[in-house]
Amino acid sequence: MRQTRRTASRALGTPVPEIIGGAGPQAGRIGRVTFPERAAEIDLDALRHNVRQVRDVAHPARIMAVVKADAYGHGALPVARAALEAGAAWLGVAHVSEGVALRKAGIEAPILAWLHTAGTDFTAGVEHGLDLGISGWELDHVVASARELERPAIVHLKIDTGLGRNGCPPDKWEALLSRAVEYQEEGLIRVVGIFSHLAVADEPARPETDAQVQAFREAVAAAENAGIDVEVRHLANTPATFSRPDCHFDLVRVGLGIYGLSPFSDQGSADLGLKPVMTLSTIVSSCKEVPAGHGVSYGYTHRTAKPTTLGLIPVGYGDGVPRIATGAPVLVNGRMYPVIGRIAMDQLVIDFGTTGLADSPDSPLGARAVLFGGVGAPAVEDWAAAAQTINYEVVTRISDRVERVYLNVVQENHGGA
Ligand SMILES: *Cc1c(COP(=O)(O)O)cnc(C)c1O
Repeated sequence: MRQTRRTASRALGTPVPEIIGGAGPQAGRIGRVTFPERAAEIDLDALRHNVRQVRDVAHPARIMAVVKADAYGHGALPVARAALEAGAAWLGVAHVSEGVALRKAGIEAPILAWLHTAGTDFTAGVEHGLDLGISGWELDHVVASARELERPAIVHLKIDTGLGRNGCPPDKWEALLSRAVEYQEEGLIRVVGIFSHLAVADEPARPETDAQVQAFREAVAAAENAGIDVEVRHLANTPATFSRPDCHFDLVRVGLGIYGLSPFSDQGSADLGLKPVMTLSTIVSSCKEVPAGHGVSYGYTHRTAKPTTLGLIPVGYGDGVPRIATGAPVLVNGRMYPVIGRIAMDQLVIDFGTTGLADSPDSPLGARAVLFGGVGAPAVEDWAAAAQTINYEVVTRISDRVERVYLNVVQENHGGA
């Protein structure tokens, strides 16, 4: 949690970043810009919209907003607050420490944490009233904490229906259930949930999801037979929420979708009724003409084919921009230009593809450069494709060096929803 971030204190009433004197081509050239040099703008109205959209899709199941990894790079606390405002019932994190940080910041909603080690502070988790995902070995640790604190731990038992990560193997499920029932009868735990995680839901036609759903139903039935009164059964992630209503059960655990991104290769954000939440931008820091044959950046992997104008964009892998994303688009003054040559730690170069620009009144020096997000700008998916990865990774890795600027922190009145 980055509560001390500058943006946290400027959250209230933060104006939409705007260039003083208008956004024309020359605006900001002499440094009179009010937007940060490097910003990931986080539009909390877009986030609330996405939560409501997911709510409509998943109805009557409830929503767990997954805010692990600092809300996929968007900022766990502001995102958690906005998601709860928009109707999320639950929050999900991987680590107990992530959940404890949210509690310490004043979040009172149920929070589930599911990825533990022998180094996890289960006592802090129980003390802060977190829900704890249990796959097996963790149960005794959690029970020890519950005894120490004289307070029952809230647990969700996790069955491995095929993903092969954590989750209890089916042949050990009965044994886990009977231990859990014993501890519950002793008043040391309260089992409120049964859950599992899907492997291939982003490819809805694949049959393996059917097998996982079937295994999940059997695991839930076994829990009920063992005498557990299951309050929430949950299996779906974002892709299953949108493509497999048979996976909705009582609760859907949605991460990517609330950030406005699509998990599918053949459908974008708009196709799912979602709005991307993060816009990554900076300021063109240098603009100059070079002759044909000029080398660009380390290794000279690129040489200019003809005389052209280069723009220097002051973000690189130190800011979380993938080093291999050469060719990705950057928006400057309403047009897209490709990244050329190697992306470095602090900077990358784009090719304006023309001459006569650098010293003209239309010079892009000082203009806003948008890597992704926002109307008419490149999509996160363009950067993911150039970097041979997925949209999840691109936003999640944007580093702390990039200031988060929260837009629409105060909820708009949206007419009774
Ligand atoms: C990260 C995660 C999710 C959310 O996945 P999305 O595809 O981003 O919706 C759900 N459940 C578990 C167990 C996770 O680890």
